[in-house]
Amino acid sequence: MQNELVVYNSLNRKKETFTPLEEGYIGMYVCGPTVYSDVHLGNCRTFTSFDVIYRYLLYQGYKVRYVRNITDVGHLEGDTDIGAEDKISKKARLERLEPMEVVQRYTNGFHDMMRIFNNHSPSIEPRATQHIIEQIEMVQAIIDNGLGYVKNGSVYFNTVKFAKSNAGYGKLSGRIIEDLVAESRDDLKHQDEKNHPSDFAIWIKADPSHIMRWNSPWSEGFPGWHLECSAMSTKYLGKTFDIHGGGNDLKFPHHENEIAQNHGACGCAPARYWLHTNMLLMNGKKMSKSDGNSITPEELFTGDSPHVSKGYSPMVIRFFMLQSHYRSTLDLTDDALLAAEKGYRRLMEGNQILQKLDGATGSTDASLDQEIRAAIAGCVADMNDDFNSPKALAGLFELVSKVNSLKAGHIAMSEISAETLDALKQHFSDFIYTIFGLKDDTHAGDNGNGTMDGLMQLIIDIRQNARATKDWGTSDKIRDSLKALNIVLKDGKDGTNWVKE
Ligand code: AMP
Ligand code: ZN
Repeated sequence: MQNELVVYNSLNRKKETFTPLEEGYIGMYVCGPTVYSDVHLGNCRTFTSFDVIYRYLLYQGYKVRYVRNITDVGHLEGDTDIGAEDKISKKARLERLEPMEVVQRYTNGFHDMMRIFNNHSPSIEPRATQHIIEQIEMVQAIIDNGLGYVKNGSVYFNTVKFAKSNAGYGKLSGRIIEDLVAESRDDLKHQDEKNHPSDFAIWIKADPSHIMRWNSPWSEGFPGWHLECSAMSTKYLGKTFDIHGGGNDLKFPHHENEIAQNHGACGCAPARYWLHTNMLLMNGKKMSKSDGNSITPEELFTGDSPHVSKGYSPMVIRFFMLQSHYRSTLDLTDDALLAAEKGYRRLMEGNQILQKLDGATGSTDASLDQEIRAAIAGCVADMNDDFNSPKALAGLFELVSKVNSLKAGHIAMSEISAETLDALKQHFSDFIYTIFGLKDDTHAGDNGNGTMDGLMQLIIDIRQNARATKDWGTSDKIRDSLKALNIVLKDGKDGTNWVKE
């Protein structure tokens, strides 16, 4: 049983016991979106994974400062560090907008989508353009410490010199400088400016066509993409903090270069634990707009896409994401979503039944109590094991089977103690709502005070009476009218239940 939290630290490529720098407090930085286009499902997968991690740390009683930035400058086309157009400037040029209009539009869209998926807001959401001074100061510190050099108004990080230090370059991504020479993607003009092809830009002199530009001691220009995260994490979480996260496509060069910059400016590594999520695929292949192998969140909600047979609610998609570990790839297919929808409903209905169960007096069965208590502890142990949500979900489903047996009378209610029943109810509510961040949309339309449930019970009773008196006309009318409203009645051994499809 995993009683203490262990996390897979990408830096050391192994699971490690998690000990925060300061007992009870956690600083966590997650790279946020580059707001030049609509947020895509891959982004949602990564941010939802970190939302569950954040929620679990809060549930464990930690005070968490969760910083997730907005990248609104410096992220260049092709993810190069120099010689290409800024993604936001390009969008602004193409759409004839101010860069900040582009930023505002897609930041709003990103926030809306995070709310739809029920992700908590971070504690601080800093923007790169609002931290230019901090970034200039960091570049200066890197130069002062002998790890940055100026060429034609741009400033480069000296990776060769840094690689010879004790910290070394390439530890996170496992790259060595020789490989980087061959891989370098920057255009040759700027390569010439660098002392070495693996060096990267931390301040870039703007060419005349570049819209976003600021004064600096070296040139009118703009900061490198990697620099913003170093500057903002240091500002809000300190030189060293607990967790740094992002998708694993950011390990290199973004995170590797962040580590180098922090050493260069502050003399130490930024984060102690690096957590990386794996990529979202569709039908086994990388989700890519240019290959037509992509679907937007909206298309997935409405079903308006050749890739899906119907629409899926945001909570079904969240449940689908929870069914795989954050370090595994997640393959989005229609079959997998259909299965997730069934699973989601089963869990929600299980919880509805559980919360209505009343204890009964009688002789309890100590072994049943023990079994349920062990299953409850098992879910927590699974989350302690590097946030293993699929295993914890499987644990909840074992408990749903017990709940269904209790409801059906296969296990007598008197066999479970009142304390264990209460603990089970609390456990479901903690895991479903607090940790997994799911909402029950199977009864969508309910206003939270049970009015809808009450009305539906009334309709179900009327239909029951009609059937008892063989008034098939009325009972069919009720069923068909509800169906037109996407409400489906499910007759079972224990009466009739309803779900909003
Ligand atoms: P970006 O806006 O491209 O800077 O990406 C924002 C976050 O989403 C980063 O942490 C990326 O690693 C992550 N991300 C991008 N594509 C995917 C994907 N297909 N699956 C999972 N995460 C992704
Ligand atoms: Zn970042």
